[in-house]
Amino acid sequence: MSQYNPYDNFIEVLDTAADKAGISLSEYVTFKYPERELKVSIPVKMDNGEIKVFEGYRVQHSTLKGPAKGGIRFHHDVNLDEVRALSAWMTFKCAVSNIPYGGGKGGVVCNPRALSLAELERLTRGYITKIAPIIGPDKDIPAPDVGSTPQMMDWMMDQYSMIQGAPSPAVVTGKSLEVDGSQGRNEATGRGICYVALEMLKNSNIDVKGVKVAVQGMGNVGSISAELLYNEGAKIVAVSNSTGGIYVEEGLDYLPFLAEYNKTRDLYASCKQPYKKVSNAELVELPCDILIPAALENVITAENADRIKAKIVIEGANGPTTTEADDILFNKGITVIPDILANSGGVIVSYFEWVQNLQSFYWDEDEVNMKLKKQITRAFDEVVRTQKQFDVSMRVAAYIVALRRLTAARKLRG
Ligand code: NAD
Repeated sequence: MSQYNPYDNFIEVLDTAADKAGISLSEYVTFKYPERELKVSIPVKMDNGEIKVFEGYRVQHSTLKGPAKGGIRFHHDVNLDEVRALSAWMTFKCAVSNIPYGGGKGGVVCNPRALSLAELERLTRGYITKIAPIIGPDKDIPAPDVGSTPQMMDWMMDQYSMIQGAPSPAVVTGKSLEVDGSQGRNEATGRGICYVALEMLKNSNIDVKGVKVAVQGMGNVGSISAELLYNEGAKIVAVSNSTGGIYVEEGLDYLPFLAEYNKTRDLYASCKQPYKKVSNAELVELPCDILIPAALENVITAENADRIKAKIVIEGANGPTTTEADDILFNKGITVIPDILANSGGVIVSYFEWVQNLQSFYWDEDEVNMKLKKQITRAFDEVVRTQKQFDVSMRVAAYIVALRRLTAARKLRG
């Protein structure tokens, strides 16, 4: 791994946005520092009787605008710098979407696929027990991220409720429908990406029919964005997971492929068309109209940005583009729809789930999707307006929108 530190990336964009918008350092300096960071050790009894100790984190970047909000990543590469950056991006994402949350993020260093279901449950419950003192429906509300699932959110909610001695559905979002989850939450991030893509295409006078889309990461975000864009008439020309990717120049027969992939998790066995094998590094450089990096950070860098051929990059993942790469893409005329806007559908519907939990009153899927479309389109329009006003990239514009809200709140609260 290089010296890349995603938190430095965050600070660089923050400084640029403040500078462009004429916001002084003393107005925004507090956002350079996370409010609270917790590191925990989680002993887990493995199926063979041995005790293994896992490391976990929870970072609350800001609670200025409401409870900290953000997912929990279960991945072997998770580290504090990454969680810190992810938590800061959540503060700015919630502020761009204008929802009453701050930002937080968590992580557990593990390979969830190498654990049995019982071990994963013990690890998940152990993690929640350790971070329980700092979370809660009005303090900090976790959610899914890479490597975590609705089932794991259900265990988290159950564990926290047991600790409290009372049901506490609003402590975690992204839960299964049967245990107070929200309609539409599972698809929300991908749906938001699809809404944003359609708005962008409309603004650029490009018909979605036949638009070529390459997607890195066939997880929750990537597979659902691809499905919804395919249903709108786009061609999905490439997809990948951690083992690499497949490229079908004329477009994948996506729905049967997805049905098979969801059963096998094997890209190559699931694709019944002739395909070319590509690496994840090759995938991002393929000829296409829209590139959706939807896996991890730091995949479009100064090293490969010059070879990106997509016209539009929509950041499904958090932090896939470095600041150096951002400049290169901007100068090449490639539009990057930044993570804090593009993938905000997840946190927007998480917010809806929390509201429903607090009220014990549940909405149908159409209502959720309609409210999501309204909220994310409003944010998109505001970012585009700000981009034009300041003649900056969409990322810097999104940060300006967020910073203005955050600094105004800071000033009023004192
Ligand atoms: P997921 O665990 O469902 O899927 C991740 C996918 O990425 C898997 O297909 C995995 O095989 C693949 N992958 C892992 N390592 C890879 C690598 N090195 N190269 C290529 N592919 C790799 O995770 P997800 O929830 O879809 O999250 C993906 C990204 O979207 C993350 O950056 C996450 O922070 C971000 N995000 C997720 C949500 C959400 O609601 N789930 C919301 C906003 C942002």
